[in-house]
Amino acid sequence: MEFAFQRTYRGPLKAAILDWAGTTVDFGCVAPAVVFVQVFEKHGINITMEQAREPMGAEKRKHIQEIAQMDAVQEAWKNAHGTTPTESDIDQMYAEFIPMQVACIGEYADLIPGTLDTIEHMRTRGMRIGGTTGYSSEMTDVLGPEAADRGYEPDVSVAANHVPAGRPAPWMAIKAAMDLGIYPMEACVKIGDTVPDIAEGLNAGMWSVGVVMTGNEIGMSESEFAAAKPKLLEPKRDRAYTKLAQSGAHYVVDGIADIPPILDLIDARLARGERP
Ligand SMILES: [Mg+2]
Repeated sequence: MEFAFQRTYRGPLKAAILDWAGTTVDFGCVAPAVVFVQVFEKHGINITMEQAREPMGAEKRKHIQEIAQMDAVQEAWKNAHGTTPTESDIDQMYAEFIPMQVACIGEYADLIPGTLDTIEHMRTRGMRIGGTTGYSSEMTDVLGPEAADRGYEPDVSVAANHVPAGRPAPWMAIKAAMDLGIYPMEACVKIGDTVPDIAEGLNAGMWSVGVVMTGNEIGMSESEFAAAKPKLLEPKRDRAYTKLAQSGAHYVVDGIADIPPILDLIDARLARGERP
């Protein structure tokens, strides 16, 4: 056979898979960062907010493990406890993390500005909405109803413990698509605020979009952000845009409010037969 013919999807986007903290709720992704600091503090180790935020997007036990593997933390742990942290130390910290995170997660459930308008816009396009997260279901069971009270309720929500592996593996995004009954994967766009979020979408074969100013990369609450000097924000913004773009994001924007025009761009690329 001299020629082979390849099938391409030319239809529009059918679903958005949205991260929770830093993307749709919890401006600055503050809730988990605060609790990671507190959990290490319980074990006599002071970590910085920057260290606490570094692995953000990952499933939370894996996140604790990644902090524990940082050179400075290993050193401090050795000084405090005589050895570097063991797997059972990490199990113990994760066991402590769960109730501490659940206890405060409701305080960080306010929607990020633009969330409701963007969801409404997506719905008028006929898109369905899925949620994925580094949180476990103990945490989303509290966060989900809090967000619903504020008007945001995705059609399906997948927590990190619902799948064999969290981000950067694609399973949560794929399970969300499956639970929505949506295919092909190139008809889905994944939106999130961290490098593992971008990887999750790309690994799932979806379009992947990063949000910068409302998420972990800037790491400021809404009031801190409002009070921050543009001079301070600009270099942080540049660094964050570069980081998420270099992780392979198809598009990077300030926040979820900026998503609607991106959907037009992706629809146009799909119509031309492009794939993520
Ligand atoms: Mg996030």
